Amino acid sequence: MSRVIALTNQKGGVGKTTSAVNLSASLAATRRRVLLVDLDPQGNATMGSGIDKDSCEKTVYDLLVGNHDLASVVQPAGEAGFDVLPANADLTAAEVELLHLNMKEYRLKYVLARARRSYDYILIDCPPALNMLTVNALTAADGVMIPIQCEYFALEGLTALLNTVRQVKSVLNPDLEIDGLLRTMYDGRNHLSRDVSAQLQQHFGDQVLRTIVPRNVRLAEAPSYGLPVLLYDEASRGAAAYLALAGELLRRAEARSGEASESAAPEPAAAPIDDR
Ligand code: ATP
Ligand code: MG
Repeated sequence: MSRVIALTNQKGGVGKTTSAVNLSASLAATRRRVLLVDLDPQGNATMGSGIDKDSCEKTVYDLLVGNHDLASVVQPAGEAGFDVLPANADLTAAEVELLHLNMKEYRLKYVLARARRSYDYILIDCPPALNMLTVNALTAADGVMIPIQCEYFALEGLTALLNTVRQVKSVLNPDLEIDGLLRTMYDGRNHLSRDVSAQLQQHFGDQVLRTIVPRNVRLAEAPSYGLPVLLYDEASRGAAAYLALAGELLRRAEARSGEASESAAPEPAAAPIDDR
């Protein structure tokens, strides 16, 4: 059964796109069929997957507001082994146009309903806003993953986000679950990182994913080559962290479906940092 996961946080620059691209590549490396949906007009997930956003003839925008065929918009992410529904600045118009359409919150859900049988995982990279695009992502999703940068203002805005998730769940999508809070850009040498991480665990317990993504320069460099870190530097700590995250998700999925988990998925990475 496919699982649709929205990576969302209205706070900018917390690692949504980095996590969406690299988790897609890691799940693809475990032979899962993965579709990455770029739902941000910035088109960062598109570019980070090696696709030139400005030369896309059609994008996710055309699927949301028009009646196009999914296959005519999907593009492969090079050798990374996953597919992408690309986005570019055209998507900015969708925020407004959607408001005038029937069932405006359900447009992405209908688009993805057709894709579900072709993919095991569909990851949605959300824009840094609680707007109609994000509401579409939350309505289409089975689970929400919330990347949280381990720094001072990390918890600010989290209450508003969790309230939005609760509202969407009660009104639009009763099956929506929290698939986890993901600690990103963690620097174990920094007291603040450790404090924020401890606070998250204290407040949210099991909802905090065990995998911690360290601050790692290879993760920041890889997008400029249009590559997930797994292809850019397989031996980096960033690559290890996102492989561990894929392993953690797969184990949770197995637990959810009631199967005994005997897979050799990698253990969550510890968090010390270095430069690769
Ligand atoms: P936006 O809200 O603008 O969409 P975002 O939440 O998608 O941002 P990213 O684009 O993934 O955030 O990350 C913001 C910046 O931090 C990028 O330059 C990215 O390369 C860098 N970055 C993300 N994660 C890490 C990490 N673990 N280590 C080092 N740099 C990182
Ligand atoms: Mg982003």
